[in-house]
Amino acid sequence: MCPHEPAPETNGADAEMIPVDLGAAVKTNDGPKHGEKKGFYSRPSDFLSNTSNWKIIESTLREGEQFANAFFDLETKIKIAKALDEFGVDYIELTSPAASPESRAHCEAICKLGLKRSKILTHIRCHMDDARIAVETGVDGVDVVIGTSSFLRDHSHGKDMAWITKTAIEVIEFVKSKGIEIRFSSEDSFRSELVDLLSIYRTVDKIGVNRVGVADTVGCADPRQVYELVRTLRGVVSCDIECHFHNDTGCAIANAYAALEAGATHIDTSVLGIGERNGITPLGGLIARMMVADPEFVKGKYNLPMLREVENLVAEAVEIQVPFNNYITGFCAFTHKAGIHAKAILANPATYEILNPADFGMTRYVSIGHRLTGWNAVKSRVEQLNLVLNDDQIKDATAKIKELADVRTQTMEDVDQILRVYHTAVMEGKLKVGQPEVLDRLLEEHASRDVSPNGSAAKRPRTE
Ligand SMILES: [Zn+2]
Repeated sequence: MCPHEPAPETNGADAEMIPVDLGAAVKTNDGPKHGEKKGFYSRPSDFLSNTSNWKIIESTLREGEQFANAFFDLETKIKIAKALDEFGVDYIELTSPAASPESRAHCEAICKLGLKRSKILTHIRCHMDDARIAVETGVDGVDVVIGTSSFLRDHSHGKDMAWITKTAIEVIEFVKSKGIEIRFSSEDSFRSELVDLLSIYRTVDKIGVNRVGVADTVGCADPRQVYELVRTLRGVVSCDIECHFHNDTGCAIANAYAALEAGATHIDTSVLGIGERNGITPLGGLIARMMVADPEFVKGKYNLPMLREVENLVAEAVEIQVPFNNYITGFCAFTHKAGIHAKAILANPATYEILNPADFGMTRYVSIGHRLTGWNAVKSRVEQLNLVLNDDQIKDATAKIKELADVRTQTMEDVDQILRVYHTAVMEGKLKVGQPEVLDRLLEEHASRDVSPNGSAAKRPRTE
């Protein structure tokens, strides 16, 4: 099965799974349900927190172009831009038009699409030559970046803070004079001198920059450092604060969340997190995190069932597979296996799920054909097959499923066969609870009848 496609409900690796009816699954009115803001999750919050009011700057078409496998032609970029617009990201950031003639042509073409929800940004060096090209492309805003850490000042552009400040002012005033948005960001912010950072941010804020940017370019920051830096910055500037986190040490989503808690307003993402090295905060991962913080805000703003489509589009374009453990859309993101979990999930999904798959157009699965299965999960399958068995009979059949699954994992087809044979035998008076040898014989007889003349098992239509 191609992992980029929606999983068919009864094939391949998912064969032993039970799709659960999302509407009917909640059988009790006790306790909080999915999507309720208060109850099963309460978040720490203070007056600075923006976890209920923030924007996405989607950088798949800029940061994502720096991913090792990425090579987007114009047609692909347009498809991705339209899908992101339909999803509802606030901004789409594009590669600098100064990078190459093709990049410039692509930038101009995407600006002409007339996207409904997303504004178009481009990302340039803090340089007047780049700024002049950028403002002519038709973008809604320009993101300017310059290295401020001693590493970059010594080994990249070789300029001091006085030069950086003077150039920043010149570029910002020029872009503002064209009536479009401007963001000024430092690069490698967490290894820059705090006093240098705050001083330049205060300067650009005073001359009317729309946003200042904090970038963890090397992925070194942790959530506590992020919180402290952004909170300090929040006290120094009055403009918006954008944050960009690389994921080298696995903190990109947590850092984004900490930044919003500290008062940041915009988070950079890319689809599946693609970018330089191992990338940045993934769009889906940020959505998962923020959905828990404020489901109403996220559901009201973004077209969540589009997420899987956007991810599949990008995965295909850069020839990767959506990871098995991907947030929300990974093939096992809503699969429950342990018997004790399955029982609780069938009674009230919120017991073992902080996210509701239905919000994303996804389906919950309870896996039953394995040695950890429980009779409640098997009962749910019996009901789906419209078989009539009492609890003792289901427990008896479950014991057989577990016994066989101890030898090898049973597919959904195997489980269904056991249940059907059990049911028929009970109806015909051939089987009672606690007769495992009789059941073994009946299963063997059924299996031998089910072999076609050429020796292979006959194909039976799937029952779902
Ligand atoms: Zn980056």
